[in-house]
Amino acid sequence: MLMPEKEAKFKNCPLLTTKDDKFRFCLGSGCMMWRYLETEKRDDTDKGYCGLAGKPVGAL
Ligand code: SF4
Repeated sequence: MLMPEKEAKFKNCPLLTTKDDKFRFCLGSGCMMWRYLETEKRDDTDKGYCGLAGKPVGAL
């Protein structure tokens, strides 16, 4: 799903959990899996996605 990093940081990450097994929020560009849609645009308002599931349809 394409979205700005500032919005992604309020979505649950499927990999990150707390000690009591609750999901944690996405780290955005602080995570190795975060991808920006346009590589030259890297602001928190520029769209990107979690690369875990490959490119979203809107990014093809
Ligand atoms: S980009 Fe990283 S922190 Fe964000 S959802 Fe994907 S794996 Fe989790």
